[in-house]
Amino acid sequence: MKLDRTRFGPAGYPIDAPKEKAFSYLKEIGLDAMEYQAVRAIPKNEKLLGWIKEEASENDIALSLHAPYAINLASADGGKRKASLERILKSAIAADRMGAKHITFHPGYYSGLSPDEALKIAIKGLSSVIQEIKDQGLDVELGPETTGKPSQLGSLDEVLKMAEDLDMVVPTIDFAHIHVRDGGIIKGREDYERILEEIERRLGSLDGLVIHFTEVEATKTGYGEKMHHELGSGYGPDFDPLAQLMVEHDVKWLVISESPILERDSVKMKNIYESYLRNRGG
Ligand SMILES: [Zn+2]
Repeated sequence: MKLDRTRFGPAGYPIDAPKEKAFSYLKEIGLDAMEYQAVRAIPKNEKLLGWIKEEASENDIALSLHAPYAINLASADGGKRKASLERILKSAIAADRMGAKHITFHPGYYSGLSPDEALKIAIKGLSSVIQEIKDQGLDVELGPETTGKPSQLGSLDEVLKMAEDLDMVVPTIDFAHIHVRDGGIIKGREDYERILEEIERRLGSLDGLVIHFTEVEATKTGYGEKMHHELGSGYGPDFDPLAQLMVEHDVKWLVISESPILERDSVKMKNIYESYLRNRGG
């Protein structure tokens, strides 16, 4: 999404303020982004959508929206594929009304198909929903998220392929998911560098990405996400080298904290990032 600078905020309403004060509270603690969680239900109430839009804009909070978990673009069941595309369209309508420019969603599961086939079906479905979004004049982009389980469609390569093949698609890069999907692959700076280089090579730029970040514990097998942890838990991945690279590459990102202590860790991430900015003298 178009961003004037790198911004930080939580995945969902802050934990330390009542909902009515969510946006002014985020501003008060120095944050400037939020990902609205429509993961179980898509808001339809025009009054609520208008209120979010007004509050977010008044407090300079840039919004993305997380679409429902119940999306599987590669389901063997045609009815479920159709319902998944409808959920993306409804998410796009809600996002447009609340002023969220980016819609994060989990593409689905391989569902017995080969990864190539599942990806092809997903891209075909997405192209039809993108046409509908254009026809309705909705001001949004779609963000297939890198997913955390090996059974899920959504490797880094797959979400980049979606972005290469389709208009209005900019992936959501979830580093915790990338980390555990492949058995804990982010151990330091070089691993982040490799990921950023791949994204830049395929998309042409690192700007405008929506990022999910949290430390994360893998399942017993070492592959796949078990649960999120606070920054500094020791589970990793470590935010520090990423913040350093963000400054070196001068990126403009929307960085969403998915830590269990949402906005509190968002403030930490912002502080780490700003300490590198200051070191650079910027
Ligand atoms: Zn997600």
